Amino acid sequence: MTVESTMAKRHTSIIGGNACRNRSHNRRVVLDFVRANEPAGRAEIARSCGLSVQAVSNIIESLEHDGLLQADGHRLGARGKPALQYRFDPDRAFSVGVELRPDVAMCALINLSGEMIFWEQSELADASLSCAIEAVSNLVNRAISASGRDQKSWLGTGIVMPGPFGVSEISFAGGTSLPGWDNVDIRRVFSEALGCEVIVENDATAAAISERMSGVARGLDSFCFVYFGTGLGLGVISGGHAQGGAMGNAGEIGHVITASGGLSCACGNRGCLEMYASRASALRYLSDSGVAAANGNDLSALLRENSPVLSSWLDRAAEHLSRAIGMVENLLDPEAVILGGVMPEPIVAALVARLDLPRGSVSNRKDRTIARVLQGSSGRHTAAMGGAAMIVHQTITPSITVYS
Ligand SMILES: [Zn+2]
Repeated sequence: MTVESTMAKRHTSIIGGNACRNRSHNRRVVLDFVRANEPAGRAEIARSCGLSVQAVSNIIESLEHDGLLQADGHRLGARGKPALQYRFDPDRAFSVGVELRPDVAMCALINLSGEMIFWEQSELADASLSCAIEAVSNLVNRAISASGRDQKSWLGTGIVMPGPFGVSEISFAGGTSLPGWDNVDIRRVFSEALGCEVIVENDATAAAISERMSGVARGLDSFCFVYFGTGLGLGVISGGHAQGGAMGNAGEIGHVITASGGLSCACGNRGCLEMYASRASALRYLSDSGVAAANGNDLSALLRENSPVLSSWLDRAAEHLSRAIGMVENLLDPEAVILGGVMPEPIVAALVARLDLPRGSVSNRKDRTIARVLQGSSGRHTAAMGGAAMIVHQTITPSITVYS
């Protein structure tokens, strides 16, 4: 999994600025170009990035100092003396992403190209902060030592959690979020515990960023990701920017009402989408019908056995999802809506196959080149990898901005 193809597509439209747009932006532009076009010389980089050769020389010196670029011999140009070439070193640094759910912590360590070097998950004894801090610290330490990486090249950690954050009414919605964490400065707590820079993001947005870095959203600038986590979230990328809203809680699609007067939700509403189309809703539906199922593996097994009860849940879930996706399309005009997350991939595929999307949608266009709905490619790794990807992007990539 690499981000090269994304980079190659994008570097042409992203240029630096000599008039001090800012040094860190230009640094990322240069690094981005070399990643997509290595080996590259100073004059070529300057020409392609819209920077002066002197500016490029200064940036290369700083990138070499940080070990992100390395000289790689000379190459004869069209004229003049052979130019010194530079290469990007994807293993010079790494980042870690951790997805936290009430019952489990999942950890991914990636290099600068987005390749997953290490993956592990650990059950949580409970959803308390102290338990999570201990589990995350252990996981991250194990990730770094098992992958043989030097702590000095650790860029930071992206902590990914179910939202919403700081909303007293729906943060307690039926055990799908982390209860009792509302007044905690999560970024500071984990930064102190891990001794590194930390970014905190909701799982759906992180999944969207991961899918754009190395999944089916490569090359897409505006899309939405319906994330099956413990509940249901929506990551929104518009014009290359993740949309967070005023408080970072945009995309709480699980509590959008798709059935007027429908099932009671722990948030206080009736008929929330999450009550019909989420892992928890599938398990509850099966249990109410006397079919034993405790986890994703059980759901996959029931699908293989053509369970009529599961099939009837899938039909109902697809109906509600179709309605919600139609709303998302008309509100946000995405290039595509992606479905994925910790729901077993065959279940997501079965849902996608059953969707009956509204015809009256801005996305129902004859000139489409991709389907209106796509299945995500990174499965259960996607949100943790997204957390790690956000740290890498912050360091090196100008093409994705987290919150404009
Ligand atoms: Zn609700």
